[in-house]
Amino acid sequence: MSNNSIIKVEGLHKSYKTGNNALHVLKGIDLDIKAGEMVSIMGSSGSGKSTLLNILGILDSHDSGNYYLDNIRIEKMNETKAARFRNNYIGFVFQSFNLISFKNAMENVALPLYYKNISRKKRNQMALEYLDRMGLKEWANHLPAELSGGQKQRIAIARALISKPKVILADEPTGALDSQTSFEVMDILQEVNQMGITVIIVTHENDIAHRTQRIIRLRDGIIGENKINGNFQPVNNEIFTSS
Ligand code: ADP
Ligand code: MG
Repeated sequence: MSNNSIIKVEGLHKSYKTGNNALHVLKGIDLDIKAGEMVSIMGSSGSGKSTLLNILGILDSHDSGNYYLDNIRIEKMNETKAARFRNNYIGFVFQSFNLISFKNAMENVALPLYYKNISRKKRNQMALEYLDRMGLKEWANHLPAELSGGQKQRIAIARALISKPKVILADEPTGALDSQTSFEVMDILQEVNQMGITVIIVTHENDIAHRTQRIIRLRDGIIGENKINGNFQPVNNEIFTSS
């Protein structure tokens, strides 16, 4: 196995049991994503994109096949061990932001550090630093309901970054945003990638996929076309280069 694969999947299968029936969603997925890549996963609704992303993020388990995360074989594991892997490797970004409504922006960003034995003072200080990088420091004390969709997604990205993950998994991160805001969120995800973090984005929007280096297509439970993106436009922004 080549060593710079951060994510390597071989012959991965996943079915859901619904009553007496099994819905075979992933039918032998092969995937090789190198550390530092920025890729998109496309496919029609119901094609298994979220299922695949949840397995990559160890939120769900596969039935058969191999999954290596940073060259470590991921098998069925208890929730404590899965949580430890997720904390060390993965940051999630969701379409619906998944912010805690009764916690302010700073507290939401700080949350992943709660499990890391870091004092509250230090957690909040780090959260403010990440909010600042997102241009949201002055919103630290606001609740999610007081923020726009784009602001909420930037807070979710700050929360995903605060535990210094190797991989960001984003499931339709722009699905709830207008096109201008979507492009701003993609700017940020490109900057995150330029920090050296591997970024995997599920999307069904072509113009979003075209801002990644490679488009992976999921069709009928397998990976179809897997093409290098000729239209890829890297950004060169200053936000993350200061610290
Ligand atoms: P996508 O993200 O590409 O829209 P999903 O991975 O969410 O697709 O779902 C793939 C298929 O699996 C769909 O038919 C969906 O209804 C089904 N499915 C997803 N999650 C479950 C589950 N927990 N139990 C049963 N069926 C599920
Ligand atoms: Mg989905």
